[in-house]
Amino acid sequence: MELIYASTRNNEEKVTASQAILKGLANGGGLYVPTAIPALDIDLEKLSKMTYQETAYEVMRRFLTDFTEEELKNCIRNAYDSKFDTEEIAPLVKADGAYYLELFHGSTIAFKDMALSILPHLLITAARKNQVKNDIVILTATSGDTGKAALAGFANVDHTKIIVFYPKDGVSPIQKKQMVTQKGDNTYVVGINGNFDQAQTGVKKMFSDGKLAQLMDQAGYQFSSANSINIGRLVPQIVYYVYAYAKLYANGEIEKGEKINVVVPTGNFGNILAAFYAKNMGLPIAKLICASNENKVLYDFFTTGTYDKNREFRLTSSPSMDILISSNLERLIYRLAGEDGEKNAEFMNALGEEGRYEITPEMREGLKDFYGNYTTEEETAALIQGLYEKTGYVIDTHTAVAAGVYGKYKNETGDNTKTLIASTASPFKFTRSVMDAIDSEKYGSLGDFELVEKLSEIANVKVPQAIEEIRNAEELHKTVCEVEEMEDTVKKFLKM
Ligand SMILES: *Cc1c(COP(=O)(O)O)cnc(C)c1O
Repeated sequence: MELIYASTRNNEEKVTASQAILKGLANGGGLYVPTAIPALDIDLEKLSKMTYQETAYEVMRRFLTDFTEEELKNCIRNAYDSKFDTEEIAPLVKADGAYYLELFHGSTIAFKDMALSILPHLLITAARKNQVKNDIVILTATSGDTGKAALAGFANVDHTKIIVFYPKDGVSPIQKKQMVTQKGDNTYVVGINGNFDQAQTGVKKMFSDGKLAQLMDQAGYQFSSANSINIGRLVPQIVYYVYAYAKLYANGEIEKGEKINVVVPTGNFGNILAAFYAKNMGLPIAKLICASNENKVLYDFFTTGTYDKNREFRLTSSPSMDILISSNLERLIYRLAGEDGEKNAEFMNALGEEGRYEITPEMREGLKDFYGNYTTEEETAALIQGLYEKTGYVIDTHTAVAAGVYGKYKNETGDNTKTLIASTASPFKFTRSVMDAIDSEKYGSLGDFELVEKLSEIANVKVPQAIEEIRNAEELHKTVCEVEEMEDTVKKFLKM
């Protein structure tokens, strides 16, 4: 049976999976959601013997029902290959009584690779299915991590081009180096003289410019987005929760049907929403533990029922979670509102206009699956150090937020349910913060690559390929432009 996707802001707007992936955002600003969550009707014995790729097929075919078996298997084969540094793709590590699901073995050593390595293939397949003749131009504004993961995913994928704008002085030196050294004839990276918000606004303007769309069409192009609200990023993220559960069973860590908790370091609410969908498919998950850093909008929401972004924005050592508007939360709010597009649109309009909304007591009932908490910067650092001292295992700052919140949850509730922690970045991606946490006196004076060597030594982990590559890589992208020149820059790249 075909699974249809509906807009969270308009009950009438319904599309197929491939159309939802192609469009990214629904008309009127809604997000696409599956009109039903398919059941995970496969025997656990069978699942426990599957590779990551086989598991991906079983999960994704239930959501992307208008893709043929061959199409989907092709996408999976092209995504989860030797770009990952382990055949397991997402290995499990047991440390200090919890199971860390390492989602950082892809080409940019952070969890966004899990979805962005397959999205380009899903998009191209979706374009073909819907008789789109144009080449797809991915336009992205980035504050660092997403840009590189998208570049790596789309590089050299036929019939696509990717253009990434980043604030010239607003990303870390490593992040910048990762982007400007990106190979691939179809990749374009531009620094703008402005901040992230200006980059984002410029990109959004181009997306909604009808005249530009026409010009593009004449030249054989159309825009698409690799943003985390694309359903083509959400569905691949459900896979690793199913895979991890099956592996825990295969390794004899849990009984058949035994419930586990899942902890997710959260920013845009995409990763934890994928875990929520996995639970709704029937995967035995008890609590979904939502971990925030000092930008604790979600913690406040879970404890009060009011979402309020009117607050000071904090820069933390877990920058990929420095977010005040968690876009994917809209999909949960829509569900809590009884899948009523009109009601959900009211909340989202309030968010747009006043920066806040409050859900009803009945809707709060639906949040019982979740527990939210946060860690301070000091707690995060102390956790990295403590875990290292106790076990020798080194985790990154984002993962440490999750581990810290898990500790708080256990103290508060005494719940001893076995627990999976989503480990979202390699410690090598945030070497400075990680090594400062372990011993700032000893390592504070070392240079960036000296620190990398030291981390490799103390953690007994090889320096990832992603870090080796940028060490001596050539700067290939030198374009810099003013905010007002973004559109002209795109036209120049596309020879329009
Ligand atoms: C993007 C990101 C997150 C947050 O994930 P969401 O799906 O946005 O909640 C957490 N950790 C790292 C390392 C990330 O890159």
